[in-house]
Amino acid sequence: MAEIKLLFDGKDISMRPTSVLRGPETVRAGRPVSFVALAGNHKVGRHSLVLRLGSHHLLVDPGLSSGEKINFNGGRHGGNVDVMLLTHAHLDHVGALPAAIKRYPNARVYATPETKALCLQMVRRKTSLSEHEIRYLEDKIQSLVYRREMEVGRGIRFHFIPAGHILGSASIVVTSPEGNFLLTGDYSNEPRGVIPQFISPDCDFRAVISETSFVGMEATAFRRSFRRLVEKIGRAAEQHKPIVIATDPLGVLQEAAMLLPPLQAKGLLPEFTYAIDPNLWESFLTYRHYYRGLEQQPGQDHYLFTLAQSARPPVIENGLPYCYLVGPGNLNDNFPKTVVQDILRAGGLLFAEDRYSLDLIARRTSWDNGGEAVVDQIRQFDFGNHISEVALRWTIRNQQPGTAVLIHGTAADIARFVRTFPRPSQRFVVPRVGEEIAI
Ligand SMILES: [Zn+2]
Ligand SMILES: [Zn+2]
Repeated sequence: MAEIKLLFDGKDISMRPTSVLRGPETVRAGRPVSFVALAGNHKVGRHSLVLRLGSHHLLVDPGLSSGEKINFNGGRHGGNVDVMLLTHAHLDHVGALPAAIKRYPNARVYATPETKALCLQMVRRKTSLSEHEIRYLEDKIQSLVYRREMEVGRGIRFHFIPAGHILGSASIVVTSPEGNFLLTGDYSNEPRGVIPQFISPDCDFRAVISETSFVGMEATAFRRSFRRLVEKIGRAAEQHKPIVIATDPLGVLQEAAMLLPPLQAKGLLPEFTYAIDPNLWESFLTYRHYYRGLEQQPGQDHYLFTLAQSARPPVIENGLPYCYLVGPGNLNDNFPKTVVQDILRAGGLLFAEDRYSLDLIARRTSWDNGGEAVVDQIRQFDFGNHISEVALRWTIRNQQPGTAVLIHGTAADIARFVRTFPRPSQRFVVPRVGEEIAI
């Protein structure tokens, strides 16, 4: 059996006594290679790590937990960062980008064109940066399409591959004389409708680096969930019930919502009129711009979403029910909140992605003696997000024996995960935040 060493916060939490059997080549010549997790020992938290090859430092994802400032000094491990690579535009992966750029002004920053576009929207919406500072960010981030290679330093190259998580999401493949490295970021190897899925690259990796945001997120197959959603929405529309779809900007349900109009165009779903919470509009447009599959649908001009602005969209219009797409986080704004209340008062249905959104909506839309009714009308859909255990297990199984698997997350979750490998031939390491792990 191969050696399994599970380290967490400096303690060896290996599951069982192991007889030592080294992988084919555990020590390779060349520059020293190491990994530092700058964050990540949270349940679902910010993602940020540094891969070091000799004097070259690659910072992946200056992520942010809400209300938290990321510290990019990194103590003795911070080093100098040559390049910053952004896997996708969720805040737990790019939220601290402005601070990271300030800390490493000379670093080159790369993202896919889609991630760049969405990232600028996120920063504009969620931070207090001035337009001038945002334009600086825009100049700073270089777009790099999937599979185009970029040189970092002597013999060190990287490229993005589709990660199947959100529009533009990427996993990173680093190639070097010291070996190849796969940094998964958040990913999914299931097709999810509007974005290409992750396919494990066919090469030998010295290390696979992932995180454990899969905790409790055994993703339901997108197609199954989507079919259920379409059935329920269809039934509601047949009964002329208005509908709210609570969809975070850049959430999976937003992607699902974008697939509804093409189904209507094909006559597979009853007609209704759409309106979009103005706060979601920009990311919808970005999806439409980059997602060519959607552009190819027949009747494209007819299913354009309407931007709801100052006037409250009616619950029913021309005898057709309204479907309002709202960001649960925006329900503090009076306008989306009152729209949602109107729809629910009229016996409408509310579709949400997960328990968190449900609670948020219930809290924010509850009105005097109406709170209970809201919760009753909520229908939950589990589209899953972040990394599923199934995906990560599958990716690791596809690797050669001896590949180091670095996962940053909580010890208990990793232990549970590693136990699903009856005879692991990989070496698992759970790094402590800030600790430099030689690979
Ligand atoms: Zn994400
Ligand atoms: Zn994430």
